[in-house]
Amino acid sequence: MSTRDAVEVITIGDELLLGHTIDTNAAFISRELAQHGFRVQVRTTVGDDPHAIRQAVASALERANTVICTGGLGPTQDDFTKSVVAELFGTELEIHADLLEQLRERFRRRGIQMAERNLCQAEVPTGALVLPNPRGTAPGLVLSTTDERCCILLPGVPQEMRGLIVEQVLPFLLRRSADRTRHAIHYRTVRTTGIAESAVAEKVSALLPSLVPLTLAFLPGYAGTDLRITSWGELDPAACDAAMAAAARNLQELLGSFIYGSNDEDLAAVVGSQLRASRLSVAVAESCTGGLLGKRITEVAGSSDYFLGGVITYSDQLKQDLLGVAAKTLRQHGAVSEEVVREMALGVRNRTRADTAIAITGIAGPGGGSAEKPVGTVWVACAVHDNLQTRRFVLPGDREEIRERAAQAALALLWRTLSSADALAETASAAVVR
Ligand code: AMP
Ligand code: MG
Repeated sequence: MSTRDAVEVITIGDELLLGHTIDTNAAFISRELAQHGFRVQVRTTVGDDPHAIRQAVASALERANTVICTGGLGPTQDDFTKSVVAELFGTELEIHADLLEQLRERFRRRGIQMAERNLCQAEVPTGALVLPNPRGTAPGLVLSTTDERCCILLPGVPQEMRGLIVEQVLPFLLRRSADRTRHAIHYRTVRTTGIAESAVAEKVSALLPSLVPLTLAFLPGYAGTDLRITSWGELDPAACDAAMAAAARNLQELLGSFIYGSNDEDLAAVVGSQLRASRLSVAVAESCTGGLLGKRITEVAGSSDYFLGGVITYSDQLKQDLLGVAAKTLRQHGAVSEEVVREMALGVRNRTRADTAIAITGIAGPGGGSAEKPVGTVWVACAVHDNLQTRRFVLPGDREEIRERAAQAALALLWRTLSSADALAETASAAVVR
């Protein structure tokens, strides 16, 4: 990639540093620029502090030829961006006649007296390019140096910033860009579950050098570890497609039994497709997940084709009353045990007459753990016709994470069971044909 197209983003505002406002501007700018082949290399956030803003902009301009700032362009005492950057570029602020007229007109239309304070919104650094902002009072501004570095100032209000990026900044950058061989940045995500991030890394380590110029990122989360393959714009569309497909094939070979989908495909949707294709129904029995499994399944549009419903049996009594778990089993093994999860799965399957069933019982914490059954101990079971599978996990994380991971592990068990049933059926029918 040409260094001429290096971009840095600086977001400005005390509220961002305090964590009151999530910095959605930076994410939007990165995504939008990536789609057009510009790679944001560094993002910085600073408070409403003239010194910090000046330092951040000056050092970004040493590294990148394009610096985009958002925030601090308003008319109030905490808005310093314009004056600080104008000073850094050695220019003065002057009233821009057209902007002043637009501003007055805006206030006239709303029937409000324009305050003296708003005058500064019509001020522009001498020689700056003005990017019209029909959604607000502060326009975007582009300040340029003689060696073609530029600093683009945008308001912080997300809606105004987004409009300016799409309608003004991208066309400006594309016009200015010297690099005519640059292509859009593309991603493909391969989703794994049931394998730790470090184990994934180990399995794919030998593959990494052969992926260049593509890169591979490991993104661990509740659902498992996602692998994101990125093409950073060096390859033309056809070469990019071919390289992406080859990388995905290689990953499939190395991690096949852990890969359930791609991009934003959810495991619940994958399982749903399996159930629909095999004309099987499913019911669930949940304890520690309190309905999360049912939520995941029903988040998928069309899940009524295969999902009958489920029960949340939190207490021992309800496990007996609604699912027919034996009092003796509960007494002997405890509610979080292989024996109980098995009776839960069979109980809900028999009572709903579903073809398949999933059950979960576990200790989400923070209390309730013991040496033998620490917090995070979860038993899941799945029944597919007469095939009953159980698994024990000791899941990491806080209460929320354990519950999310438990629901995912339960779905994964059904996914695996149905996948192997499919594989068996295929071998069986192949055998018959032969
Ligand atoms: P400002 O242009 O600094 O006056 O910002 C106006 C408003 O835009 C702030 O009150 C925030 O709510 C919002 N805002 C500013 N910066 C960001 C950002 N980086 N991400 C999301 N919202 C922002
Ligand atoms: Mg602000």
